[in-house]
Amino acid sequence: MPKQELIEIPKPLDQLTATEIERKACIGKIMTYTLKSLSTTFVNKGFQWLLPVALSQSTDPLWPDPGASIEKRIEIDIYGKPVRTTASMIIHKLVAASTAYPKLFILSPNIRIEKAERAKTGKHVYEFTQLDFEVRDATSKDVFALVEEAISTLVKDLKREMKSELTTLCRCDTLKAPKTPFKTYDRVDLEAKYGADWEAGISQETTEPIWVTNIPREFYDFEDFKTGKWDNYDLFLPQFGEVLSGAKREFEYAKILKKIERDQVKKENYALILKMAKEGRLKPTAGGGIGMERLVGWIAGVKHIAETQPFPRVPGTVNEL
Ligand code: AMP
Ligand code: MG
Repeated sequence: MPKQELIEIPKPLDQLTATEIERKACIGKIMTYTLKSLSTTFVNKGFQWLLPVALSQSTDPLWPDPGASIEKRIEIDIYGKPVRTTASMIIHKLVAASTAYPKLFILSPNIRIEKAERAKTGKHVYEFTQLDFEVRDATSKDVFALVEEAISTLVKDLKREMKSELTTLCRCDTLKAPKTPFKTYDRVDLEAKYGADWEAGISQETTEPIWVTNIPREFYDFEDFKTGKWDNYDLFLPQFGEVLSGAKREFEYAKILKKIERDQVKKENYALILKMAKEGRLKPTAGGGIGMERLVGWIAGVKHIAETQPFPRVPGTVNEL
């Protein structure tokens, strides 16, 4: 990804030149192919495809997360009750995977009003879509295998079937189908090597997708209280950085409660999860969410992931559409 000052803010559709429209159309075709390929992989593996929700009392606290930079949270009243716009569907996934949908995925809307200073990072938008999935009784290893297969199949097939689009985008030769299994690094070792900004360090250095494990963050990711290690993971793409976050999840009441209190997250916003855990109805699951704009941005070789959006959502910019 080029330096911030070199990145131009992607323009809305009505302002594009003829060449830019051609490029936009190619990226659109790659997005369509990607959605088709990934959803087919998940459906063929027995996943239920859930439709998303946009308003709920409970949503992702996005805290504590070292990468979060939220300027404002959207909360409105409907029917006399406060609801929030979806920051992610993690809480919905935990409840759904524990009850009627043991293997599920959702193309979920994520609204995160990122600080305007993130306009030119090239990898932040304020509305995006995750292919969010969760599997009951799965381990981190199961998730690694699933994602690795899904992504390597996608890239292999794309290179065969979308040659002309990849050529227009100058990605035909540079996009390589990743070798599996992907390498795995512990965040502690990366911090020792690159310092606090290990995410930038490893993203710039790696030429292959890699997993990073053991990252302290939100209460719902599994933490071993004895060792202090987190059973969670991020997938990093060369240049682009984090494209997926996921984890084995907490399901025990005492641990969830302790972590919510430790993080000073509002307990009343997570009453349902706490109640289900207390009653033993929250099941062990593992899953993750793939940011579609970042994934397709990497495939298409864009400078700013908003180029993958028909209606760009660049932090600090509001267009009519
Ligand atoms: P998170 O829940 O913050 O770990 O986000 C999960 C995934 O969503 C990330 O790995 C990214 O692919 C994507 N993502 C998170 N924040 C943004 C953003 N502001 N713009 C675009 N994609 C994002
Ligand atoms: Mg993350």
